[in-house]
Amino acid sequence: MNRRDFLKALGLAGAGAACTVPASAVQAAPIAASSPGGDQATLFDLSQCVGCGACVEACREANANRFPEPLKPFPPMVPTNRAKPEDWSDKRGVDDRLTPYNWLFVQHFAVEHEGRAVELHMPRRCMHCENPPCANLCPWGACAKEDDGAVEISAELCLGGAKCRTVCPWHIPQRQTGVGLYLDLLPSLAGNGVMYKCDRCAPRRARGELPACIEACPFGVQSIGPREEMIAKARELAAAMPGFIYGLDENGGTNTIYVSPVPFETLAAAAPPAPGRPGLARVGDSMADSNTLAAAVFLAPVAGLLAGARQAWRAWTGQADARAAKREAPAKEDGHDA
Ligand code: SF4
Ligand code: SF4
Ligand code: SF4
Repeated sequence: MNRRDFLKALGLAGAGAACTVPASAVQAAPIAASSPGGDQATLFDLSQCVGCGACVEACREANANRFPEPLKPFPPMVPTNRAKPEDWSDKRGVDDRLTPYNWLFVQHFAVEHEGRAVELHMPRRCMHCENPPCANLCPWGACAKEDDGAVEISAELCLGGAKCRTVCPWHIPQRQTGVGLYLDLLPSLAGNGVMYKCDRCAPRRARGELPACIEACPFGVQSIGPREEMIAKARELAAAMPGFIYGLDENGGTNTIYVSPVPFETLAAAAPPAPGRPGLARVGDSMADSNTLAAAVFLAPVAGLLAGARQAWRAWTGQADARAAKREAPAKEDGHDA
């Protein structure tokens, strides 16, 4: 049984039926998923970042085996102008913005602060919001906040409709057409691929390893730990710098926190948002909007069902991995290729 057969057996082929639900009425994962171990946050000390890009390279290497390999030509959408294909597969080397093949990039700033010219470098990727609208409003439950605070999109469940990008205040997720479940379900009608973004290195986290970008940085720019500890550390850093903090209250609070010696308003003015290049404006809590909340609450049962399917899929693949590891062990001991 392959992944898609498994999803279909669980009734997610019913996702095909669900495709008839109007986009405005569909939605997603539980609001503010509980976190028994508590949210882990990452803290960037921008005064230490030299913009070398080692973190970007490490991210690309660590996640290369999860990058999309699209089938071409892409199936035509009906109507044809409903969802424009987005294809980055021939531009995999682009590393100065977010793409499905580049989940982290470094923004460079040359600004004036207190009468001095200042150069600053800022690694940018998903903010891992505490109450993420991308997860709360994904129509298919493909995006979810994990117990440690990381927000993940399942490439197995995502239909590429890009709702997550629309509702994200920084428009982080990036679409690749020609991959994913939509090809097996409704290639002309459902979504248009799969959305990709930083998931804080989900496979590495599952193995108890640090995210690749943190491990690779030669200057220790990033720290990771319980959110309250990272906030305390951010406040200390900001007081000593003296500096400014981004991420405490943005979009209701994020699990990515930046400390900068230059006000974020100055950085925001220097780099207005553009596709794949998120802005730095102060952002209110998008999930506090009553219409948004109502949509999420109304659709939460759908999300619960799909989240159950997601858990079942993970449990099943975990058992499959364990079975495969057992099968491989004697072969390795015998000196055979696994
Ligand atoms: S965070 Fe570290 S690895 Fe990344 S650009 Fe800055 S100094 Fe280089
Ligand atoms: S930054 Fe955007 S994509 Fe990332 S968790 Fe927040 S809403 Fe989702
Ligand atoms: S946490 Fe992992 S996926 Fe996210 S930017 Fe860093 S290396 Fe890339």
